[in-house]
Amino acid sequence: MRAVTGLLCLAATVMVGCATTQPLAQVPASLTTMPMPSGAAVASEVHGVPVESCDATASLRPSELSGPAVQAIRQRGRLVVGIDQNTNLMSFRDPVSGELTGFDVDIAREVARDLLGDPGRVEFRLLTSPERITALQGGTVDIVVKAMTITCARAEKIAFSTVYFDAHQRLLVPTDSSIQGPADLAGKRVCSQVDTTSLATVARVAPAAILLAVQNWDDCLVALQQGQADAASTDDSILAGMAVQDPYLHLVGPSLENEPYGIGMNKSREDLVRAVNASLERMRRDGTWLSLYRKWLTVLGPPPAPPSPRYRD
Ligand code: GLU
Repeated sequence: MRAVTGLLCLAATVMVGCATTQPLAQVPASLTTMPMPSGAAVASEVHGVPVESCDATASLRPSELSGPAVQAIRQRGRLVVGIDQNTNLMSFRDPVSGELTGFDVDIAREVARDLLGDPGRVEFRLLTSPERITALQGGTVDIVVKAMTITCARAEKIAFSTVYFDAHQRLLVPTDSSIQGPADLAGKRVCSQVDTTSLATVARVAPAAILLAVQNWDDCLVALQQGQADAASTDDSILAGMAVQDPYLHLVGPSLENEPYGIGMNKSREDLVRAVNASLERMRRDGTWLSLYRKWLTVLGPPPAPPSPRYRD
């Protein structure tokens, strides 16, 4: 009966959290032979990326004058937003209402408020991390709001807004783990999502770690709980969303990399980039940014000032 309760609790934890979850040390041995999350694989060819050297966080100056891209969105009457549904706190399904919700979801709704006069005029398209850039290049979404770090390589392919959140990559480990930082990761299994800055940063700061690459961030939580990963590594905003679901996990170690989040857009849609930057200016100015931080992210600490925008024109 105890084992069944533990199993049920483990499953429930993945969804909504469970105060009586057993510590990993007490999880029955049979759980560690459970199948890996679908699509999980040990990554072998991940090359470390150099720390940012270009000026990719500088964006286009805001303007509310509408051009062809903004006009097309207004004609359609909906903003099509690429987003995730597996990242607790940032963008996830509310377990009661089934609605997409979270910091990124609210940021997208605020952009719709400014472009279309109504935060409800949003159509969400679910994307995995590798799909973010192709969806923008192919024009199947107008904007991507998915905990997306601005990098030089990405900025060659898509346009970014100004920074709307400053995340930092860290480690998430069981509370009884001896891992305290990147120096302790040699030979350890570290979980991260495919095609993310997170995976590349682990490869750079802990080259002797075994990289477990999964399809969704929730899979890292499952892999940790099933004893298939020793640590997970990604942005603190995402790791905090896992930690609040499991009291036996906590964030450790220093910041491994700065992760400035930007809203992604197609490079040719300059008027949309300027309109989105105007919307972010409004959110910083009128207290919306602060109230969204307070609503979702206080688990990271007291609210910082909103990131200061930088412009290049
Ligand atoms: N911020 C990281 C990235 O853009 C990880 C977040 C994610 O991919 O969901 O690659």
